[in-house]
Amino acid sequence: MVTAVVGANWGDEGKGKITDMLGEESDIIVRFQGGSNAGHTIINDYGKFALHILPSGVFYDHTTSIIGNGVALNIPDLFKEIQGILDKGVPMPKIKVSDRAQIVMPYHILFDQYEEERLGGKSFGSTKSGIAPFYSDKYAKIGIQVSELFDEESLREKVEGICEKKNVLMEHLYHKPALSPDDLMETLHEYRKMVEPYVCDVSAFLYKARTEGKRILLEGQLGSLKDPDHGIYPMVTSSSTLAGYGAIGAGIPPYEIKRIVTVVKAYSSAVGAGEFVSEIFGEEADELRRRGGDGGEYGATTGRPRRMGWFDAVASRYGCRIQGATEVALTVLDVLGYLDELPICVGYEIDGKVTKEFPTTNLLKKAKPVYETLPGWKTDIRGIQEYDKLPANCRQYIEFIEKELQVPVSMVSNGPGRHEIIYR
Ligand code: GDP
Repeated sequence: MVTAVVGANWGDEGKGKITDMLGEESDIIVRFQGGSNAGHTIINDYGKFALHILPSGVFYDHTTSIIGNGVALNIPDLFKEIQGILDKGVPMPKIKVSDRAQIVMPYHILFDQYEEERLGGKSFGSTKSGIAPFYSDKYAKIGIQVSELFDEESLREKVEGICEKKNVLMEHLYHKPALSPDDLMETLHEYRKMVEPYVCDVSAFLYKARTEGKRILLEGQLGSLKDPDHGIYPMVTSSSTLAGYGAIGAGIPPYEIKRIVTVVKAYSSAVGAGEFVSEIFGEEADELRRRGGDGGEYGATTGRPRRMGWFDAVASRYGCRIQGATEVALTVLDVLGYLDELPICVGYEIDGKVTKEFPTTNLLKKAKPVYETLPGWKTDIRGIQEYDKLPANCRQYIEFIEKELQVPVSMVSNGPGRHEIIYR
């Protein structure tokens, strides 16, 4: 049985918490895309953690945590993160790294920085962790797979070819120092030493696990609207954020993914540039940002203040549909308890016509939000464990959202902690 936990929005929906929770009843947890550019915040019995590349299952001793082939593997970041959790008293997790995962190289990070500098005000708001240059190289077929670390001769040949190509850009586009094959080989030798004990034929491992009836959890990063195909291109990430990609990024058959838990945030937030129809500004936004998430809405990786907005039913319904959501976990609902009324964006007005369908980016740029407003519940709902005990106006908000999403809301999260969850 394979379950995926993915996001319906711009990311930061609280997937980390839901994965951490579902991890309790899983045997294997797999990261299948993305890199250490985004983060999950998890609060559990060991403390508060910001994970960027480790799967959110590393806190249980019964789970195996896997970095799938679809991930952008930053080896030093992975080891820093492992050390970070060990330092806080978490036992050494069982970790496997796909032999087909590709490696984020120091020059990917440099190219990311140089390109953002070059673009100036027109930049993509990259986290500068090398993700776009990494995936570009993967598909240009000059990426380096973990398996290639173990074939010295062909690795050297490849690295020389890479330097030849990259140094043209270094010299003529960015006017920066050239890459040296010797330095890169030294780095790769270090990486080999670090990663060797964890290297695994992950698709074979998962095949065997499935035949033994093991429960597998796929953990996505970011959300539907950041998908390179179905999101707000080009202000998207460079690997697919969809549950469907879980099959590819982990190496399992698509029909095995039976349960797609899609995490939807009870209001909107986004990091970086890009279309965001229900965005709010000024004091209204500042207050929601201050009260949002757990201690404010600031990026888990970058610390950047997140952009804030009201719940967007158009974007979220689309986000659920494109994920193939079988159920929804609605998160951070507790944050909204201070509001007198809650606007919900139920349509987009584009060129004088109202639509409920999420359009392509060129039309999205022209979209104006159409709101319906529901009354607030004006109380703190943290600590409530049964759905019926929630204030009537709060249930009305949830049920309104559920109707708009056209997917059952199976869980409502009313606090950042592992057990702050209401099942329906
Ligand atoms: P992810 O990338 O989807 O895992 O999301 P993030 O970890 O970036 O952002 C979610 C933030 O909201 C984190 O700080 C979580 O601790 C916090 N969080 C998750 N669920 C809830 C909730 O139900 N209520 C509150 N107040 N905070 C939550």
